[in-house]
Amino acid sequence: MKEERIVREFCKLVEIDSPSFGERKMADQLKADLVELGFDVVEDKAGIHYNGNCGNLYGYLQGELPGDPILFSAHMDTVEPSKNKKAVVQVDGKITSDGTTVLGADDISGIVAILEALRMIKEQGIPHRSIEVLFAIAEEVYILGSEIFDYSLIRSKEAYVLDLTGEVGTAALSAPTLVSFTAKMIGKAAHAGFAPENGIHAIAAVADAIGQIKQGRIDESTTVNIGTITGGLAKNIVPEVCTIEGEARSLNHDKAVHEVDKIHDVFMDVAKKHGAECDFTTSFGCIAYEIDQTHPVVTKYEKACNKLNIPTNYVKTFGGSDNNNFVRHGITGIVIACGMNEVHSTQEYTFVSELVKCSKIVFELMTA
Ligand SMILES: [Zn+2]
Repeated sequence: MKEERIVREFCKLVEIDSPSFGERKMADQLKADLVELGFDVVEDKAGIHYNGNCGNLYGYLQGELPGDPILFSAHMDTVEPSKNKKAVVQVDGKITSDGTTVLGADDISGIVAILEALRMIKEQGIPHRSIEVLFAIAEEVYILGSEIFDYSLIRSKEAYVLDLTGEVGTAALSAPTLVSFTAKMIGKAAHAGFAPENGIHAIAAVADAIGQIKQGRIDESTTVNIGTITGGLAKNIVPEVCTIEGEARSLNHDKAVHEVDKIHDVFMDVAKKHGAECDFTTSFGCIAYEIDQTHPVVTKYEKACNKLNIPTNYVKTFGGSDNNNFVRHGITGIVIACGMNEVHSTQEYTFVSELVKCSKIVFELMTA
């Protein structure tokens, strides 16, 4: 691997603004890179669908080695604050932002590993598997990009999603179902001084409901959180409307659904008790999966890491990724660590050595 090229590439991509739904410049760069590497590249219509400026980028490279193609994936968008990012490379090989933005190693570290492995293969003329690449948009907003990708394009049955924190060598074999919910309590407005008894206090009703809901860690694989609350118009008006938003996630799909069902019932009961009405809506952010450690997608990863003397560590992640959508579409994928730490914060960092290690693993997977 060419360490210097990896660092240069990483720093270059960090400087491209690529917020969710605004990935245009990043996609243009990556499209050019993939074409130069010999890929057939297609951009789908996800950008138009979401009113963004860019679609998912899919590439196919025919290989010489037998077997199904393998899919490698990373996402192009970064979380905020993401404008004018700059990579600062320190003497010990640590790379940070300048402290005012995220670094974007989530998920540029994954993109860089894929590109570097491909460049090594091309330069050295090494036989490789047929390779599919998907650089998705809008992963950070509940994996919306990969949600509407046209999976009939994908020929791979196995995937490696480069989008995990922790030491390189770590891989996540399971991920949760995530259910979002919104409860809008509708009471009745009244003057708080002249006729409070004519009102139905929506905030009080919601407070009553929240008091009955168990939040936090429900069991070792399940969490519940009510994260936002809005309501009321003025100090002298009995509040007519109060809305909360929350989520439940669980490695066990049915448990996540069950928790939200219970919350729904609480809100309905409370609405009735207060004489209010409640609109309760839910949506699935992602669906849980679990890949067996004996599955070839894992054993191949194990083999690649062993060859490189990189210790493996298999974990359950409590976050969704594009892999949730892949698995839902019949692709057996795992999420592998690519050298990102303290993501979604301005303290985000990576190490040059980790970026190099990850590109080596990807190279092994592509050429095995
Ligand atoms: Zn990510």
